[in-house]
Amino acid sequence: MILNNIKPKIVIHGGYGSFEGMNDTRKAVHESLTKIVNKAYAVLLQKNAKTAVVEAVKLMEDDPLYNAGTGSRIQADGKIRMSASFMHGNALRFSGIINIQNIQNPIEVAQNLQNEHYPIIACNHSNYGQDIWNLPHYNPETEHRRKEYESRRKGKTGTVGAVAIDINGNIVAGTSTGGIGNETPGRVGDSPTVAGNYASKNAGVSVTGIGEEIVNLSVASRIVSLVDEEINLNDAVQSVMARAKENKYNFGIISLDRFGNCIVEKTTEEIYYASSDGQAQTFYH
Ligand code: ASP
Repeated sequence: MILNNIKPKIVIHGGYGSFEGMNDTRKAVHESLTKIVNKAYAVLLQKNAKTAVVEAVKLMEDDPLYNAGTGSRIQADGKIRMSASFMHGNALRFSGIINIQNIQNPIEVAQNLQNEHYPIIACNHSNYGQDIWNLPHYNPETEHRRKEYESRRKGKTGTVGAVAIDINGNIVAGTSTGGIGNETPGRVGDSPTVAGNYASKNAGVSVTGIGEEIVNLSVASRIVSLVDEEINLNDAVQSVMARAKENKYNFGIISLDRFGNCIVEKTTEEIYYASSDGQAQTFYH
């Protein structure tokens, strides 16, 4: 469907890391992302970029393969704290939830915060989701993550994100994470900040990788700001990747501009992603 020359498009990612020797996981992620991008694209056509991004991120949060929602990594004190953010590019409004516990879909809370006077909230108690948002108590822990935590192993599959443009040219980005695992409780990564998730009416970006490094370069907002200054998306992404290389930083990004250009880049490891503008394509890069 093309109207006003805008072709709806969505790109999603399932995190950054190496799948070396993990062929079963690779296959499962491939299938999951393909399914999810197809569902989210149908929502993009029926509704809008906002609903499609929430749907895509929610479906990934519900799949224990990813480090977001169900299957989130466990922090040093044995608890799961999740963070998510949402940005409506055309409304130029960012919202985010930091370190929320005991709920199923942090992206829904991040999106609901769009309507609040204070759209970025760091949770100060474990029942914040129940007390403030009236959400049912939900335990996102999986056996796999508990074992990973107990053996102090680093997990491989990651944070999730989505960027979409709808037929009216609305660009929206959403990102959700369980963090890096074994981190100090209270740690804040990039995902609930403008470094990890940002959009304007010209472009949207979601990032995954080492949060502290992503914040140092302010990756998502830097790329979008360059595009806002009329730099084309590929040049904007490459300029940030050059700085990442200089600093030996580790992350991957998905991005989309108002012309429907989609650029996916990463430093040393792999980013698994899928896109659809009518035909789903799933890759790792
Ligand atoms: N960026 C996330 C964080 O640092 C982790 C990830 O993308 O896997 O919390």
